[in-house]
Amino acid sequence: MNIAAPKGTKDILPDEMSRWHAVENLFASVCERYGYKEMRTPTFEQTELFARGVGGSTDIVRKEMYTFEDKAGRSMTLRPEGTAGIARAYIENGMASLPSPVKLYYDMSFFRYEKMQKGRYREFWQLGCEIIGSPSAYADAEVIAILDTFFTELGLAERQLELGSIGCPECRPDFLHALRAHFEPNLDKMCPDCNERFKINPLRILDCKVESCQPFIANAPSQLDYLCADCEEHFDKAKRALEALDISYNINRSMVRGLDYYTRTVFEYVSTHVGTQGSICGGGRYDGLVEILGGKATPAVGFAMGIERLLLEVEAQGIELPAAAPVDLFIISFPDTAVSAMALAQKLIRSGLSVQTDVMERSMKAQMKQADRSKAEYLVVYGAEELAAKQFVIKRLSDGAEETVSADDLTDYLLKARK
Ligand SMILES: [Zn+2]
Ligand SMILES: [Zn+2]
Repeated sequence: MNIAAPKGTKDILPDEMSRWHAVENLFASVCERYGYKEMRTPTFEQTELFARGVGGSTDIVRKEMYTFEDKAGRSMTLRPEGTAGIARAYIENGMASLPSPVKLYYDMSFFRYEKMQKGRYREFWQLGCEIIGSPSAYADAEVIAILDTFFTELGLAERQLELGSIGCPECRPDFLHALRAHFEPNLDKMCPDCNERFKINPLRILDCKVESCQPFIANAPSQLDYLCADCEEHFDKAKRALEALDISYNINRSMVRGLDYYTRTVFEYVSTHVGTQGSICGGGRYDGLVEILGGKATPAVGFAMGIERLLLEVEAQGIELPAAAPVDLFIISFPDTAVSAMALAQKLIRSGLSVQTDVMERSMKAQMKQADRSKAEYLVVYGAEELAAKQFVIKRLSDGAEETVSADDLTDYLLKARK
């Protein structure tokens, strides 16, 4: 029996990688230009990190984590998201003593045992940013500005920024009280999950996707009507900064986040493209997280976006991503010149060119086919005559034009041809 990839996972094949690299490289370039540095955390962490850092009442922790016991009987979990691990690393590595704020970005894969649907995988990749140490709303505006620049440079025009605030530990109790009062009379008409959420954390009811719960969710109270003076001021400041940056937004009165550690500003980029509407990216402020994980109280804000979802959107919006780097030259060789051809390829590759040659000792005809498939710009047939004369007839494959070039001039010839 053949072994298949586990359900919910997928191979990213060589043909797809140039699209992945295009978005990953652009994201890295934008983040670096804003002064953010990349970091990586372990693929698995102690289960406790996510139970505390993501929140025991979330669907992620309750239903979706890949948790296992290691050989020493410790409970480990494949990371379901990036922020908890980064906050753990921030504390553990003494990053609090670095100049504030600490600006980080990441490109990592995550694991959630989710229901299968288009663009959703059980191992999935996310690009994300975190700015740790700034309580200011300007930090909120900066991470949104990173996204706006990234989407603009990517060419993702059909997008909308949704902005909200979910308050702070000062003003949330009033809101939770209002939510409870709103849902309590209707609990018998709502799904069993919501009944459980009502007891643990009524905020989570707002995440419910069950059809019969939607009418009660739609007219639920909004946190925006319960913000304390500080949260109100923070929200206004974030909005003013976005206006100064020329980033338009839509105030979303019912935005919630699937994770417990968020405070104040929450945001989401949604697609406005017909057929692919929905969230492309989510983020927000998480002032409580570092403290929950045992560090000093440290304000922070960030976002994450799924690469698979982003690539679906790129395709739907008809965006052409740069293709893989072209092959400069294909060298066809014969049994008596094969090694010399490899040595020539080696020299050219070390000058920065992309060069392919036969390593299967195939016939000339088969090598011709291979040269064709490689989509190389130029072709050289390297026979005994060329070896002796130290010069080559170089053929441009697009139009068949030929020129004779000495072995010494070949590197320069090909480098010039690139421009
Ligand atoms: Zn507040
Ligand atoms: Zn429900």
